[in-house]
Amino acid sequence: MLLTITLAHQPAADLGFLLHKNPARPGAQTFPLAFGQARVFYPEVGTDRCTAALLLEVDPIRLVRRPGGGDAPLAPYVNDRPYVASSFLSVALAAVFGSALAGRSGERPALAAAPLPLAARVAVVRARGGEEVLRRLFQPLGYAVAVEPHPLDPTRPDWGAGPYLTLELRGDIRLRDLLAHLYVLLPVLDDEKHYWVGDDEVAKLLRHGAGWLADHPERELIASRYLKRRRPLVADALARLLADAPPDAGSAGLAPALAGRSPDPDQERADEPRPGLHDLRLATVHGLLGDAGARRVLDLGCGEGKLLRLLAPDPRFTEIVGVDASTRSLALARDRTLAPLPEAQRAKIRLLQGALSYRDRRLEGFDAAAVVEVVEHLDPWRLAAFERALFEFARPVTVVVTTPNRDANALLPGLGPAELRHRDHRFEWTRAEFRAWAAAVASRFDYGVGSVALGFEDDEVGPLTQGAVFTALGRANKDDRR
Ligand code: SAH
Repeated sequence: MLLTITLAHQPAADLGFLLHKNPARPGAQTFPLAFGQARVFYPEVGTDRCTAALLLEVDPIRLVRRPGGGDAPLAPYVNDRPYVASSFLSVALAAVFGSALAGRSGERPALAAAPLPLAARVAVVRARGGEEVLRRLFQPLGYAVAVEPHPLDPTRPDWGAGPYLTLELRGDIRLRDLLAHLYVLLPVLDDEKHYWVGDDEVAKLLRHGAGWLADHPERELIASRYLKRRRPLVADALARLLADAPPDAGSAGLAPALAGRSPDPDQERADEPRPGLHDLRLATVHGLLGDAGARRVLDLGCGEGKLLRLLAPDPRFTEIVGVDASTRSLALARDRTLAPLPEAQRAKIRLLQGALSYRDRRLEGFDAAAVVEVVEHLDPWRLAAFERALFEFARPVTVVVTTPNRDANALLPGLGPAELRHRDHRFEWTRAEFRAWAAAVASRFDYGVGSVALGFEDDEVGPLTQGAVFTALGRANKDDRR
C-alpha cells in the first residue's frame, strides 16, 4: 500500500518540515505498527517538486491472529487487506504524520496554515460502489480527481477491469486537510474497517471531520460507513456534527461553500437594531436564575461562555456547568472568555461536551438550567428528545428558555418575511407558537410556566427575544432537598 504526497511549490523540500520527516535523511525511516510497519521516504526532492512516500506493509500473519479474522474459511489467509488502502492506512497516517494531521509545524507554521498545491496518489484503493462513489466522496471537497483502473488480469484483457483503482487527488489545500480527508475517506471508500468501532470512533470522526464533514453532501454515507452502520453511533455522530457550530471559514481548505458562514453566535444578531441585545438578554437570564434562588446552574448550549462569565462573579451561584456540542466553542469559552477570570471564579465553572437531545446523567440534580438561543438550532424532529432529556431526566427546578420571536423579525432591517435570522436556525417561533410549545411542555412534564420578554419590546410585534421560565411542580422546594 503506497501513498505519495507531492508538493509543487518552492522550496518544495518544505514538505519535509510540514510532515516532520527530514528528506535529507538517508534511507527510509521505519515505524513499527501493531499490524505491520510503515516506511517513509522521499522518491523525489527537487527545488519545485518534492514527493514523500508512505509505504505500508501489513503483516498477513498478524492479521490472521487477530480475533474475528473473517467468515470464509480461507478469508483470513487470502484477502486483499495487505494491499489496499483501508483503515490500516489511516492508522498509519495518524501514527506517522500525526503532527501534520493536527496542523502543527514548529518550523513552518505559516505554511501549515496555508493552502498549497498538493497532490496525493494512493495505490491502490478498492472503492465500494465504484468510481462513482469515489467521486462523490472527494469531488465536493474541491479536488481534481483522477482514477486509473487496473485490469483484473493483465494477460486476459477480455476479463476487463478489476475492482482496484489508483486514485489521484489534486488541489490547493492545507496539508492537514488533505491528510484528514484521506484519514476519514479511505476507510469509507474501502468500507471494511479492521477494528472494533465504539464511541471513540465517533470522536475520531468528528475530530478529523471538523470543518468539512458537516457540509459534505455525502455526510450520511460517510458517517454510516465510517461507523460500520452501527445506528446509534451514526445517529449520535450526525447529531453532533449538525449541532456543532459552523466551522471557521479558514479551516474549510478547498470547500468554498463553507466560507462566509458565521461561527459567532453574536454575529447572527448583526442586523438587530440595538447593539448589546445579547448582553441585555444574558443580564435578564442572570436575574431570572438569581431570583429563582438557584445555586447550582446549567448553561445548556453555552457556546463561547458569555453567560458563564456573567454568572461566575455572583456569589449566589456555587457551581456553574456549561454544556455544548461544539468542542470549538468550548475551547473558546475556556481559552478566551473564561481565562481572564480570577481562579476562584473559574473553579466554580465546568465545561462539558454533550448533545442536548440525549439523556446525560452528569446534568441531573441541578437547581436551574438556562437554554439561551439554542432551541432554534435543533432540528424540529429532535425537539421531543431534547424535551425529555431536559425536563424528564435532567429535571432542574427552574428552566429558562429564550428564543427569537419571529413576529419581531419585521423590525430587523434587511430580513425578508420568510427569512430566518441565522443560517443555522432550523425554525423561529412566533409568540403564539412559542407559548403553545411552552404550555405543552409544562403540562407534559409537570412544570409551571410563565413568559418573559427580553430586549427591546415593540407594542405590536413584541420583544425581539421571547423567553419562558419553567418551574418544576410536585417537588419540594430547593431548601428541603438539601
Ligand atoms: N447560549 C449561547 C450560544 C447560543 S448559539 C449564547 O447565548 O451566546 C447555540 C449554541 O448551541 C451553539 O454553541 C451550539 O453549538 C449549541 N448547540 C446547538 N445544538 C446543540 C445540541 N444538540 N447539543 C448541544 N449543543 C448544541
